[in-house]
Amino acid sequence: MQQPSRLPLLESVLEAVNAGVIVVDAARRIVLWNKWMSRHSGCAAHKALGMDLFALMPELRGGRVEAAVTQALANNFSSLLSPTLNRAPFPLYSNPAAIARGERMQQGIAVTPLAFPAGQSEPHCLIQLNDVSMAAAREKLLREQTELLRMQTFSDGLTGVANRRAFDAALDRELRRAKRNGGMVSLLMIDIDHFKAYNDHYGHQQGDQCLIAVSGALQALLQRSVDMLARYGGEEFAAILPDNDPGQALQMAATLHERVLKLAIPHEHAAGPEKQVTVSVGVATLLPGQPATPAALIRAADGALYAAKRQGRNRIVAARQEDTAA
Ligand code: GH3
Ligand code: MG
Ligand code: MG
Repeated sequence: MQQPSRLPLLESVLEAVNAGVIVVDAARRIVLWNKWMSRHSGCAAHKALGMDLFALMPELRGGRVEAAVTQALANNFSSLLSPTLNRAPFPLYSNPAAIARGERMQQGIAVTPLAFPAGQSEPHCLIQLNDVSMAAAREKLLREQTELLRMQTFSDGLTGVANRRAFDAALDRELRRAKRNGGMVSLLMIDIDHFKAYNDHYGHQQGDQCLIAVSGALQALLQRSVDMLARYGGEEFAAILPDNDPGQALQMAATLHERVLKLAIPHEHAAGPEKQVTVSVGVATLLPGQPATPAALIRAADGALYAAKRQGRNRIVAARQEDTAA
C-alpha cells in the first residue's frame, strides 16, 4: 500500500496548533505564517508570506526579537525571550475585545534555527509564540495578594503603622545589629493621656480618628528609613530609633510630643493646660556594649513612661541608664 503523504497532515497540525508559528528564510522573508498568527495579528497569511518580517512589523527592528533572529540565522543559536523582559514585542491580541482595548497579548517567544528542508542550503529560522497573558495575570494577582497579606501581617489595621508583630521583629533585629556593630538603639514609648476619658466623652469612633491622626503625625516625623513607629497597644505607640544616643532620643521625643500638641485635637479632660490631646513619652537608650534584651529595653522605656504619667502626664521622662541593661 502506498503511504499517504505526511505533508497535508503536517500542514493541518500547523494550522490547528494553539501557538504562533512563523518561519523566515535567510533574508528574513516570511515563508510560513500559521492561522494562529493570522488570527491574533489581524494579518492574513497571503499578505504576510514573502514579506520581510521586519518590514511587516517594523517595531520589532532593533529589539530582542531581531537580535534573536539574527543570532539564529547567522550563528545557529536558539533564544528564549523572557516574558517579563519582553512582555509584548509582537503586535498581537488575545481576542477582539483586547484589540478594542488596545491591550496586547503577553508573549512567550522561542526563536530556533531550523535544520533546513532538504534541497535548501540557506538557513531558516522558526519563531514560536505563546499567549502567556493568563499566566501573567495570575502571577500579578498572586503578587498583589502576597503583598496585601504581608501588609496585613505586619501593619496595624486601624492606623496603618507597623503592628506589634513587626515591632517585636524590628527591635530584635536592631538590638542584634547594635550588638554586632557596637552601636546604640533608642526606644520611645508614647502613650496618649487620658484616652479612656476621651473615648467616654467623644465616643469610640472619634477615639479611632484621634488614634489615626496621632499616629499619622508621629509617623511623618520619623524620616529615616531605619526608624520604626509601631502601634504597641491600644493607645500606646513605640518608636525604635537605631543609632540614636540619649540626647538625640530626647530631642526626637520632644519633637513628637510637640507635634501632637500642634494637632490641637480638643480633649475636655486633658492633662495639659490647653484642653487638647497630649502624650506622655518614656525614653530609653541602649548604649554601645551595654548588655540588653528587647524585654529589658522595653521595660526601661515603659518604666520611664509610667514615671511620666505619675508626674502628671503630658511630659517626657528618660530612663536611668542602669535600668536599660538586661
Ligand atoms: P493614661 O493617661 O494613664 O494613659 O490613661 P488612659 O485613659 O489613656 O489609659 P487607659 O489604659 O486607662 O485607657 C486606654 C483607653 O484606650 C481604653 C481603651 O478603650 C482605649 N482604646 C484602646 N484601643 C482603642 C482603639 O482602637 N480605639 C479606641 N477608640 N479606643 C481604644
Ligand atoms: Mg493612655
Ligand atoms: Mg496605655
